[in-house]
Amino acid sequence: MSLIKLDKKSYEFNLNQIAIKAGGFEKLICVFKDNAYGHGAKILAPIAKACGVKFIAVKSEKEAFELKNFFENILILSHRPHGDENACFIYALNDSSLITRFKKHTRIHLKIDTNMHRNGVCLEDLDFVLKELKKHPLKLEGAFTHFARADEMDASFFIQRKKFQRAKELLQKQSDLKFIFHSFNSPALFRVAKLPDDELCRVGLAQFGYTNENLKKVLSLYAHRLSSRMLKNSQSVGYGGAYTAENDLKIATYDLGYADGLLRFNGKGELRLANGKAILGKMSMDSFSCEDLGEEICVFDDAELWARFFDTIVYEILVKLHPNIPRIVI
Ligand SMILES: *Cc1c(COP(=O)(O)O)cnc(C)c1O
Repeated sequence: MSLIKLDKKSYEFNLNQIAIKAGGFEKLICVFKDNAYGHGAKILAPIAKACGVKFIAVKSEKEAFELKNFFENILILSHRPHGDENACFIYALNDSSLITRFKKHTRIHLKIDTNMHRNGVCLEDLDFVLKELKKHPLKLEGAFTHFARADEMDASFFIQRKKFQRAKELLQKQSDLKFIFHSFNSPALFRVAKLPDDELCRVGLAQFGYTNENLKKVLSLYAHRLSSRMLKNSQSVGYGGAYTAENDLKIATYDLGYADGLLRFNGKGELRLANGKAILGKMSMDSFSCEDLGEEICVFDDAELWARFFDTIVYEILVKLHPNIPRIVI
């Protein structure tokens, strides 16, 4: 049985650190999309709730319904309006041409395009949106933007912040109600000394111990031994015989493969487990082989190693972990 262990103390520690940085738990929107970045949304939800998290963001209505009982406010980021929106949730309005497709009086946060050009309404179109919202009333409760390069040390972050500041002023002029504004994701949060007073932060990956070295990794992935054998000198293991023993070597096969959401190791180069031992040969759909390291082995407790090997980002390594892998809190 492969297994994901979630470290409760580390998760609580990270949430508290982020809340301090953000100015309190009331200023925190925890991004729980995609099964809480592969960690397990339903397992972490009660822990986040007990810490004081009241507001989360998810991808879809399906995810929102699953977490409805844990949080007061749930923002749905990637919603395609269908006219039957639920009054319990807040929906991102990602495109001004879709206003009339929402059910009237749906609670929305307006996405502002401040230069990422992925979703949202640009500053020039704000007037149009506000006029449309008079004709087809939706409950505008807030606005947000997303940084395209918060992790790159160039000027674009500051240009986007400036544009968002302008959008906040334009919007707030239209209403006596206090809007909720948010823009800071994980890398952005750790670039500033303090969050702007009028903003919540919207943090995903940092919760799980990445993007800042003071945070603690929450997830570790384990595999269990299916079988073991002596691989004799010059014998090969697995598809294509990609690894050949140069001496007799006791090897074992463990119950985790690319069907479990790992990126497929093709046997080239050295992909290492948490203890530094290399995976031997090509990874199979449901298993991989390596030196016999006992009943249970830690595949990784820092996804950064795997991200570097596969030339990708930790987000991808984590989010692909299959929901069927059992998860326990330790
Ligand atoms: C995923 C996502 C976030 C969280 O980003 P992190 O870098 O994980 O903190 C915030 N906002 C939006 C719109 C997102 O899609």
